[in-house]
Amino acid sequence: MEGMQSISQLTSWLVAGRTLFLLIHILGVVCFAYIVAKRLVPLFRGQHDLRFDQPLVRLGRVLKYWLGQWKQPRYRIAGTLHMFIFAGFIVLAMRAFTVLIVGVSQNFVMPGLSGRAGSLYNIVTDYAATVVFLCMVIAVIRRLVFKPARYAVPAKYGKSHTADAIFLLSLIAILMVADSLFAAAKAAAQAQQGQPYEALAVFSLPWMLQSVLTSTALHTLGRIYFSAYLLHEVTFYFLLCYRPFGIQFHVETSLFNIYFAKLDREILKPVRWGVSEEHLDQVKSFGVKTFEDFTWKQMLDFYSCADCGRCSDNCPANAVGRPLSPRFLTIKARDYSFEHYPVLGSSHNGKPLVGNIYSEDEIWSCTTCGACEAECPLLVEYIDKIVDLRRGLVDDGNVPQSLQKPLKALESRGNPYGKMEKKKADWIKAKDFQPTCNVKVLDEKNSADTLYFVDSITSYDDRMQSIGRATANILQHVGEKFGILGAAEKDSGHEVRRFGEETLFMALRDHNVDAIKASGVKQIVTSDPHAYNALKHDYKDVPPVEHISQVIAKEVKTGKIKFNPVENEKNVYTYHDPCYLGRHNQIYDDPRDVLDAIPGLKRVEMSRSRDRSFCCGGGGLMLFYEPKEDQRMGAKRVQMAAEAGANVIVTACPFCMVNIEDAIKVAGMEGKMTAIDLAELVDQQMAPESAKAI
Ligand code: SF4
Ligand code: SF4
Repeated sequence: MEGMQSISQLTSWLVAGRTLFLLIHILGVVCFAYIVAKRLVPLFRGQHDLRFDQPLVRLGRVLKYWLGQWKQPRYRIAGTLHMFIFAGFIVLAMRAFTVLIVGVSQNFVMPGLSGRAGSLYNIVTDYAATVVFLCMVIAVIRRLVFKPARYAVPAKYGKSHTADAIFLLSLIAILMVADSLFAAAKAAAQAQQGQPYEALAVFSLPWMLQSVLTSTALHTLGRIYFSAYLLHEVTFYFLLCYRPFGIQFHVETSLFNIYFAKLDREILKPVRWGVSEEHLDQVKSFGVKTFEDFTWKQMLDFYSCADCGRCSDNCPANAVGRPLSPRFLTIKARDYSFEHYPVLGSSHNGKPLVGNIYSEDEIWSCTTCGACEAECPLLVEYIDKIVDLRRGLVDDGNVPQSLQKPLKALESRGNPYGKMEKKKADWIKAKDFQPTCNVKVLDEKNSADTLYFVDSITSYDDRMQSIGRATANILQHVGEKFGILGAAEKDSGHEVRRFGEETLFMALRDHNVDAIKASGVKQIVTSDPHAYNALKHDYKDVPPVEHISQVIAKEVKTGKIKFNPVENEKNVYTYHDPCYLGRHNQIYDDPRDVLDAIPGLKRVEMSRSRDRSFCCGGGGLMLFYEPKEDQRMGAKRVQMAAEAGANVIVTACPFCMVNIEDAIKVAGMEGKMTAIDLAELVDQQMAPESAKAI
């Protein structure tokens, strides 16, 4: 009976404010619904995006990346903090809802949370509120004292975001204090009257506040109880309605952004979803020129960015001072959207994006390395957007001067160097190579099981031809019946596509597909990760393709390839993951397994390796484009190899080889550092008789 009195005393403290609380509820919900509806307007005006397939796979990704916070631990401190905050929010969601309803229905108890279950839940939520509060305090200290560099906003991108971040963190902290105070005042009042009451979790924030309130007068406790409720309600709705105006909008959008994230990231987005290649001539404008040319999912990405800076922290273009920072690519678009689709007032379409919020250099500076996408915890996509913006530039004839010549050469000769097609197979005629390795050029008379797809750089570049010859030697060594297409092979078009020249890419691809089919081969091998990626993901109806590193790793396991020990035991090797072998195709272990199989070879890892590998500077047409930068990416990579204690950089891509060798020269490290392709190293170390012994 006494307990009943105490509870009715508590509820009566809230009854006085019931009308006010109800009004705040209605106002908060209506405002939030209105703001979200306004935020959805551009998404309805955006382009189609087919993201409704494979619901179970998508749900699995929600469990992994959203609920499981899969990518957060990649940044240990910030990631751990975020995981605690996220878990706290999930646990507290029902408590916050219950508290809100209690204001208008004082005896409300969430179904399933009465009795022991409710007591247990309250203990957990007491600790959750405490953890979230502490995380807010730590986050504020990090922002103000330690100032992680990745949160900084360079002057060219506007003003610092610190004040906004602190404001939001403080609001969440206030919410936790209000929630805890509400519970503490209730417990203190009940305890003061000697009533049985639900114990608060020991050492939690509500427990500590209750200890402070123990001897507070009952009527004062009533005021605290009422004020804590009001503060909780106002802060809750203020946060709810404020979030869609900035980075905290990701709290609402992240689940959807992850559910609708691209499943097949390696495959570039089509020019227009729902328009087949045969009907592309009916598309009036290619690519993204105005904001409304983005798809609704691309716009959802803009809303979902948490401004954590991880993408830019890992972006090689940003690291070497190119005018590109993926984080700001998103933030600029989000701000544009907020400005042109305001919450108050009517929306108005704006001017072209490039030339206003983006610069041409910014869009051409990306190497499509994928580091940003690999890092983003919210699965924000960048490569498709950048390629779409380039498609728009190409469609308007805005191609950088230095790229015009190679693109014309690709159109007329099928390679960016403008070399004669008939010279494509000249690399097999080298005097010291032809007598030992007879490479067939496939035609009506010469057939083979395996096609070695060489691609332009390995065919025409004097230095890279050595990779071609090493690859051929390896294929011959393991007994592969192989040949090349010679003059019938055109550039794979991989970079052409990523530079936004979709029509030229389609012409190159169709030519190659016809030539591959005519050759009758059953499989394809290439030593070029860009060609590998194109054949595997951009081409259709071609035989299965393998990179030479996969073939070597397989044959090392079968015993067909055995190695002689390395001659210079002082050499320390490090493996540089090419972006289109590693990050885009997850081939990380095969090249390393091969290196580790060479007797006496000492191998070290660079600080940035595997899916955090640092792009060498970009392949393909990037060789013809000189963006503004403070330092070459290759030079930074060579520096990383030296810091790891290596003096030999092994890669598995001809473009990496160009950039890294060039960087070694520029850095004046000749004699101290060398670079070698995996195929060259294997060819050099292979024990000649190993295959015959099988
Ligand atoms: S793909 Fe690479 S270069 Fe392009 S924005 Fe992302 S990290 Fe930067
Ligand atoms: S895009 Fe992703 S990684 Fe980059 S700042 Fe936004 S949330 Fe962070």
